[in-house]
Amino acid sequence: MTMVQTIEKHQLYINGEWVDPVSGEYYEVISPVTGKVVAKAAYGNGSDAKRAIEASYAAFSEWSAMTARDRAVILMKIYQLMQDRLEELAQKISAEMGKPIREARMEARQAAEYVLWNAEEAKRAYGETIPTSIKNKRLKTIRQPIGPVAAISTWNFPLAMVTRKVAPALAAGCTVVLKSASQTPGSAVQFLKIAEQAGLPKGVINLVSGSASKIGDALLTDKRIRKVTFTGSTEVGKQLLRKAADQVKRVSMELGGHAPLIVFEDADLEKAVTGVIANKFRNTGQTCICANRVYVQESIKEKFLALFKEKVEAIKIGNGLEEHVELGPVVNEGSLQKIKEHVEDAVHKGATLVTGGKKCVVKGFECGYFYEPTILADVKESMLISYEETFGPVAPVFSFQTEEEVIQKANDTDYGLASYFFTQDLSRATRVSEALEYGMVGINDDALAAVQGPFGGVKESGIGREGGPDSLADFLETKFISTVI
Ligand code: NAP
Repeated sequence: MTMVQTIEKHQLYINGEWVDPVSGEYYEVISPVTGKVVAKAAYGNGSDAKRAIEASYAAFSEWSAMTARDRAVILMKIYQLMQDRLEELAQKISAEMGKPIREARMEARQAAEYVLWNAEEAKRAYGETIPTSIKNKRLKTIRQPIGPVAAISTWNFPLAMVTRKVAPALAAGCTVVLKSASQTPGSAVQFLKIAEQAGLPKGVINLVSGSASKIGDALLTDKRIRKVTFTGSTEVGKQLLRKAADQVKRVSMELGGHAPLIVFEDADLEKAVTGVIANKFRNTGQTCICANRVYVQESIKEKFLALFKEKVEAIKIGNGLEEHVELGPVVNEGSLQKIKEHVEDAVHKGATLVTGGKKCVVKGFECGYFYEPTILADVKESMLISYEETFGPVAPVFSFQTEEEVIQKANDTDYGLASYFFTQDLSRATRVSEALEYGMVGINDDALAAVQGPFGGVKESGIGREGGPDSLADFLETKFISTVI
């Protein structure tokens, strides 16, 4: 007897109801592990986005008028329900986009932590009393929610990127229209079901999936949406910024990166290599903050490469849902092609292929999008990989002689999201961390994201910060009130 696997069908969530898209169309979600359909999701368009905007607009007055304490209580319930279902959330993340289950569990925990952090912050959106220079005047500020927010998110952290946006918006008193990434509609659906169960009033969050450009245009051109918070590529971010300018909408942009990771000769080599591997190959190299350029000081290059190669060749590749797997597939065929192009271009221009360098076939998952963990040495600035985001498991290694030289090279990019270096010299740690033109710096640290820390970039990597002590700030307007007594 053949087993018939049920394919989940993800609807839209508008005004507290699960509904079909106006067109009635659904698209297929393909697993990067098997190359087969894992779910179908609503192919929403501009009309669906309009329905969602109406719902978010209608819900705004009541939600924003609720006390911060009462909003925090609902967010706490969401957090608790997420805690109860961490494994289910992690399984969905891994099934949809292929990341190893251990990493998916970390993401699910972090996603829940964003909800908890913002539930706590909801109660601390303080205004100020300002000393006056005129005796009969009293000056103060209050902070009010900006209005309905459009949140557009990406597939590489399909749950954590959603809660990192939605939780502070809700905590601040904003309502939300969420556009989930096409590759990962299910993670957003799970989150919305939890929010529904926690008692979030109808219309406070609405979910649309489908045509990115049509939904995006509807959200960007509607005056009722007062803010756009986006995580994705710099290219799409710029398009959204241009459209947002027409209505002077507030924006938060979490965009692409091209992170330098520097290993100085005084670093603990074993720790540095372990750190580079964790950083570069986490999420199969598909993170905005993973190293895109590994700079190793000339004097330790040979030793570094030997150890790096040995450890990289031991990485276990396969179906992310299997416990022992350390490296999953990349997200789709287009990603594989980009990686192939970057590696071929580098080798053609003189880079040395230390290990890996080709598509990899995993037994039982022959249609999956797997690529070998790859190291390139002798990489030069003229190669594509040195200035474009690869978003794959390829570590390009450059060498350098001096601290001044490597800082100049590290900063020579339009991006400015994350940067890292390994050293045991305290003075150097201070100097280099201050000189790097990036929103975030890891010193002997390969993992930067923390709910308590402000996450975001400078230059073309973005505008604004998510998480950290000011996480609500981007969703609040400061109003100045002057009173004559
Ligand atoms: P993307 O192609 O820019 O897509 C991101 C989101 O934007 C998706 O939901 C996508 O929808 C939507 N979108 C695409 N075109 C649009 C349009 N014209 N109007 C409105 N929405 C539109 O990026 P991606 O490939 O998903 O993600 C990878 C990029 O995200 C990398 O550059 C990475 O560095 C960056 N990233 C940054 C951060 C950060 O915090 N800075 C975090 C994670 C990722 P569809 O899915 O339907 O196409």
